Parts: sequence; structure tokens; C-alpha cells
Amino acid sequence: MSVAATLSPLAFAVTVHLLPPPPIPSNFTATLIDNQTVLLQHAGKINPLVIDTFTESDHNDLGFWHGPSSSLPAENGHGYVRLFPSDADQAYHTQLGPTSCFDMRSYGQMFLHLVFSGSTKFSISLNQHNKECDTGRGPFLETWDSVEAERYARGNDIYVPLNHFVIDHSRAVSFSFHGFFSRDSLTLYKVEIVPDVPSDFYVPPKLENGKLFLHCTRPNSFAFGIDDGLPHLVPDVMNILEEEKILVTFFVVGAGLRDKESNFSHVYKEMLEKGHQIAFHSDTHQKIEGLETIKAVDEEIVHNMETFQRLLGIQSRYFRPPYGTVGARTRQRLAAYIKEPYIINWSVDVEDWLWKDSNTPERQRDAFFRDVGRGGNLVVMHYLSPSTVQYFREFIRFVKSINVDIMRVDQCLEDPNGPPFDPRGSEVKERIAI
Ligand SMILES: [Zn+2]
Repeated sequence: MSVAATLSPLAFAVTVHLLPPPPIPSNFTATLIDNQTVLLQHAGKINPLVIDTFTESDHNDLGFWHGPSSSLPAENGHGYVRLFPSDADQAYHTQLGPTSCFDMRSYGQMFLHLVFSGSTKFSISLNQHNKECDTGRGPFLETWDSVEAERYARGNDIYVPLNHFVIDHSRAVSFSFHGFFSRDSLTLYKVEIVPDVPSDFYVPPKLENGKLFLHCTRPNSFAFGIDDGLPHLVPDVMNILEEEKILVTFFVVGAGLRDKESNFSHVYKEMLEKGHQIAFHSDTHQKIEGLETIKAVDEEIVHNMETFQRLLGIQSRYFRPPYGTVGARTRQRLAAYIKEPYIINWSVDVEDWLWKDSNTPERQRDAFFRDVGRGGNLVVMHYLSPSTVQYFREFIRFVKSINVDIMRVDQCLEDPNGPPFDPRGSEVKERIAI
């Protein structure tokens, strides 16, 4: 089946390794913040905060970890780092604290300032910690917001108002540079927070770009977000959903729906009738953020929307980026077509893409229980193998056994436009307006 064939395990491995970004290396000893500016901040004055001048290879000027994700080649010089990206998932991170939350609220009206040279074809993100400010809990990064570097770049400077990063600033973790859509190198010389921009510096308006979720917000809720699958496994999946009386969210690719041989348009029509949520997953399952042109990004969104309208008669505000790859452009273009889109990644990864065809398919169970044990409650899984489908029932029963409610993603995010959650399960479908 054409869509399944596009699921490259290698690409998946890269993505999942990056979400959340790599933890601080275990042999890394954080030094205390002795930066004078931080002390001044506590004394009631807000001064510039120099985060990183790249003078040390393993930590920034605050004494905290910085570094590339494992697959991003980086050259560490004295006073710079040069990045050689080849993939939208690669990233460079510079941390604001050791492992806990960094409260940036007092910098609220200030600006992120980068001194750089080279490519502007990347995203800049400010990452938010989880509620516990605990890296042992999942997801480590609860969400993040991203801006497009190019819009804020003038010469060798980038200034971004910190309030363009719409996250909870009391729980900041790090800045990331990622979402590369060019192989041109990028050199960073300085990352800092400053009170002002030069008088002739035009600051563009913040663009709408939706909200990114990795975690259900409703107390005691749990959601299965199921992506691509194989047609011959549909009956088994449907039986499990019927027998267990649960509703889930399917993220569906436009090209798969159009594939007559797979019969997926009928499959998902039936899923809709049964009360499941059907949401967007792009048109041809590529790393959208890595596409070179906005036109190509738009086509992935628009063709997915057109196909849903034509074959299922629906639209959606929910989108899961293929491979979880998401940056500023994907988000902005989604928000250009869909009012206030919900962008859905995950905090429980069954890792079926990694283990389903291995000698140890049971490691899918290990992955599920590991992530749920850390506090994850929003799943990514596929139905591309009988082993995954077999474990699916066990996963459902486990969640039920701990008295957590399984529901659609829109319900677990308390979307006022979603159908109300009815714990009686199967009766819900009678009342759902699609
Ligand atoms: Zn997918």
C-alpha cells in the first residue's frame, strides 16, 4: 500500500529520537548560574541575559548544556558553532536551566537576539517544560512555539520579541534551532536576551500558528491517536474498538484515502459513523517542514483538506505532522487554512515503527508501558502489523484497569467544539455531530 510504503523506519527513528530533544548527557555536571545579569534580575533590575557565546563545546554561558541532536553535524569553534543540516528534524539546543523550569516572565517584553551568518531557512523555538518541571516525566517538553528565522533576520542579526513565543514563560527550558529546509550551513555566534532592538529594526507581526499538543489536558483522560495502517488489518482494529467500546482519533493521509484499492475512504466513513474522530495527516506523508517552498507546504495541507471534503464530507481542525516533524512554516500555513488548528504529536510512542518487524515485537509493549509510566497519555501508533494490533487490546485494557477514561483527542483536549465525553462509551456515537 502506497502510504505505508512511505513510512521509513529510519526517518521515524530520527524523529522520535528528537521528540523530546536529547536529554542532558549523564556525565554533564551543570554549574550554578553565576551570571551577573541573573543576580541583577533578582535585585529587581532587568538586564540583558547572555545565554550563549559558544566559547565552550559542552555548555553555554549560563553553565548549562548546549549541543546538536545526534544527527546534526556541528563544528565547534571558539565563539561560534557551525551547523550543517540535512534534515528538518535536526536541531541545536541551548538550555536555560539545569533540568528544571526557568522562569522567563520578567523578560516578557524583551527580545531574543541572535548573531548569526549563513542560512535563515530554519525555525527558532522556545520550549516549555512539563507541569512537574521534571525531566523524568513525559513529555519532557510539554509544548513549544516556533518562529520562522527568515522573517526576523536583518543582516547578521535576528531579533524576536519573546512574546512571539506563546508558551508558559514560567516553565521555559531551552531555545532550539531546527526545522531546516535548506542544506546551507548556519553559524551561530551569540544567543542573548536584550531589552531593545535597534531603532531601524523592523519587527514583523506574530503570525498565527496554532497550538502544539503532546499531552491530553483533561484530568484522568487518555487518547489513542492512530496513524497510517494496512487495509487487511482494518477488521481487527474495528472489532477491538467495538468490543472495548472506546473512541479514538485517526490521523489520515489524503493520498491513502484516494487509493481506491485500499478502500480507505469507506473504512474511515464507517469510523466516522461509529463516532471516531478523523483528522488530517498531510497529503503524501512527507516531512512538511523540510519542503523547500511554501507552495509545496500548502499542497500537503490543501490536498488533504480537499480529499477529506470530497471523500468523507468533513473538515477538521486537528493535524498530526508526518513523523512528528513540525516547525514554524508548517504551523503558520496550517493556521492560514484552518482557524486555530490543533497540532497533535504524542507523549506515548508504541515504537511499532521500530519493533513490529523485529525479533522482539514485545518491545512495543515495553515502550507503551514505559511512556505511560512517565505520565504520557496521548499515543502515537499505527496498524501496520498484526503484533501491534494484538497489543492494542492489552493497552486499552491496561488503561481501563487504572480507571483512566479513553476518548478522542479533541475530547481529551477539552475542545468545546468536540463531542461531550460519555463514559458509557458506545452510546456516545448516537449523539455525535460530525
Ligand atoms: Zn504517519
